[in-house]
Amino acid sequence: MACTNNHNNNNTITYSKVELINEKVDSLIKIMTLKEKIGQMNQYNGFWDVTGPVPNGGDAEEKYDHLKNGLVGSMLSVRGTKAVRAVQKIAVEESRLGIPLIIGFDVIHGYKTLSPIPLAEAASWDLEAIKKSAQVAAAEASAAGINWTFAPMVDISRDPRWGRVMEGAGEDPYLGSKIAVARVEGFQGDDLSDVNTIAACAKHFAAYGFSEAGKEYNTVDIGHSTLHNAVLPPFKAAVDANVKTLMNAFNEYDGVPATGNKYLLRDILKDKWNFKGFVISDWASIKELVVWGYAKDNKDAAKMAALAGSDMDMESHIYIYELEQLVKDGVIEETIIDDAVRRILTVKFELGLFDDPYRYCDEAREKEVVNNPKHLDAVLDMAKKSIVLLKNENHLLPLQKKGQNIALIGALANEKNSPLGSWRIASKDSTGVSVLEGMQHYKGNNLIYKKGADVSVGDTKFVNEIKINTTDRSEFKDAINAAKNADVVVMVLGEHGFQSGEARSRTDIDLPGVQQELLEEVYKVNKNIVLVLNNGRPLTINWADKHIPAIVEAWQLGTQAGHAIAQVLYGDYNPSGKLPMTFPKNVGQIPIYYNHKNTGRPVRDESNPNLVFWSHYSDVDNTPLYSFGHGLSYTSFEYKNLTLNKKVLNIDEDVKISVDVTNTGKITGKEVVQLYIRDLVASTTRPIKELKGFELIELQSDETKTIHFVLNKTELGFYNNQGDFIIEPGEFEIFIGGSSNTNLNTRFELK
Ligand code: BGC
Repeated sequence: MACTNNHNNNNTITYSKVELINEKVDSLIKIMTLKEKIGQMNQYNGFWDVTGPVPNGGDAEEKYDHLKNGLVGSMLSVRGTKAVRAVQKIAVEESRLGIPLIIGFDVIHGYKTLSPIPLAEAASWDLEAIKKSAQVAAAEASAAGINWTFAPMVDISRDPRWGRVMEGAGEDPYLGSKIAVARVEGFQGDDLSDVNTIAACAKHFAAYGFSEAGKEYNTVDIGHSTLHNAVLPPFKAAVDANVKTLMNAFNEYDGVPATGNKYLLRDILKDKWNFKGFVISDWASIKELVVWGYAKDNKDAAKMAALAGSDMDMESHIYIYELEQLVKDGVIEETIIDDAVRRILTVKFELGLFDDPYRYCDEAREKEVVNNPKHLDAVLDMAKKSIVLLKNENHLLPLQKKGQNIALIGALANEKNSPLGSWRIASKDSTGVSVLEGMQHYKGNNLIYKKGADVSVGDTKFVNEIKINTTDRSEFKDAINAAKNADVVVMVLGEHGFQSGEARSRTDIDLPGVQQELLEEVYKVNKNIVLVLNNGRPLTINWADKHIPAIVEAWQLGTQAGHAIAQVLYGDYNPSGKLPMTFPKNVGQIPIYYNHKNTGRPVRDESNPNLVFWSHYSDVDNTPLYSFGHGLSYTSFEYKNLTLNKKVLNIDEDVKISVDVTNTGKITGKEVVQLYIRDLVASTTRPIKELKGFELIELQSDETKTIHFVLNKTELGFYNNQGDFIIEPGEFEIFIGGSSNTNLNTRFELK
């Protein structure tokens, strides 16, 4: 037995769960043929029309044939216990060794009961709530036969043109890392063999969020400093939190496509970080190595991907046809295959699939758990916490509950489909609560709804958006008339749920279609406007910020969207969300992010203000529309007495920081207290501010709390260009406040 044994008092030998699984995996690998091993590295899309033992359509015959011959290790997007049981039965009962499939699915922000899109959840800065949201998703998905989600997406991105920012946690590696861990813990629980949990997948490894110009599937060109300090930390955090799988990415890094990138997959992930789980390719990304011009044919692609460390092939159909010969020809050593298979089988054992391959196929549990009403409360709670109050002049919000005439305007106000976002494979269309429905629960006012203008034409699911922005203004008039007679106008504008997400990059991130025009026309007759934004990315709403007194960022909030928004508008919930991504004034400012570098010419020379040679544009200033971390409340907070335990410390001493936060308003509210640092001089240039701590607190009116932070090596160090974490002596500045745009600061020195 090749493992360390523990002797207990009775001198009997006990094995840890890990050792037992290792033992079982080794025994199984010994009896597998090379072809069967390669089969475990093969994943097919089951698509959602798989309802019986014989899948139908397209390449179904090939898949069925491979499945019964033990040449498929996993299937994705098989929906529901019935379908899962059907494919599992073929794998288990018809193949020679009966190795169960691991069933993957894109459970991105819920299975059927949907939470807010991940970017919205990130705006809560509430790690417990985010974890709970992932637990709900895992409970529903596992009850529907799923073992593994392709989430969380932990790609940091600084470019709101990229459609997939909706799927991540925004622009900051520190917040992104904390959220990555919360999601991994939520999905996986403490013990993967618990049937309510699913394996997680941190994706896309790596740097997919840095696609040039935010164009989907574009090349990436970033240096090592950005790779190690901005891109990799959330992946590292997920690995340290024991994430079971990673997915590679469609992009290249440093001239090498991520799928075949040995530096990323083997050198960093598997060797340096000691990652023990397995790597799934992204959809057909092994085949795409040929299209990149990096591999000359499919065989070459299989070789590159396997040697680099991609363990499982998602829908390229290449490993299954090419790897065997490559091993026989001695191009790939069988140990590479064994290593990949060992990783895959280990996760299957951990999920308990070998104990009972049908343990996730309990129809009674599926009925009870999926769409359980309790889950509605959980996603409502998450939705309220995700809302960010961007602006609230003259206390226009909250709305009065009685005696007002309210005009509700905008197609998105009456949308039950858009709030579900673009990732909702399992849930039925139009099952969200609309804002109109949410507001109708408050009966004390006179509420009139007028659409004004559509956002887009028809079902935008897989249609190129350029063709679908509507130009129809025929319903403007009705909306303007309703606004004229209203005390307050609530306008719900933004993007349809299908206008952000994968393959939905945009160069223009204003309000789509004629919504901006509608807003301006309504403003001419009534300036008392509350603008509620629904969107999957920061938008350039510069005009709105200048003119509209109240702006609420309400993203795409999932199944309970309308209730959450109404509760915030009417003041039954005091908003506390903070932006996880900077809002630019215009697209020309992009990339604009708070933790940027200083440059040698950061500011205007005050002694010679006419000199133009400093880092700026001549048509827009350098500040964003809304900073990272910005978000208001119906109450107000004051920060005072920023103190440090010492001003000069040894390099291994903890820096202890405290600050007094007071609720200076009239009602109870929550605030995210944010701590930023700046390393003033270092061996590579450092950002002007970096988030290194935050705490979500609740304060009653007039209450003051002293908040404590501790900084140590983990927060004060950084990665050098070799990817080694270092800490250097020198002076640091710290900033504390309710957004990244805070000036409350002090300094200390590390000796
Ligand atoms: C996406 C992945 C996703 C996969 C499976 C790909 O196109 O990039 O994030 O998990 O499809 O649906």
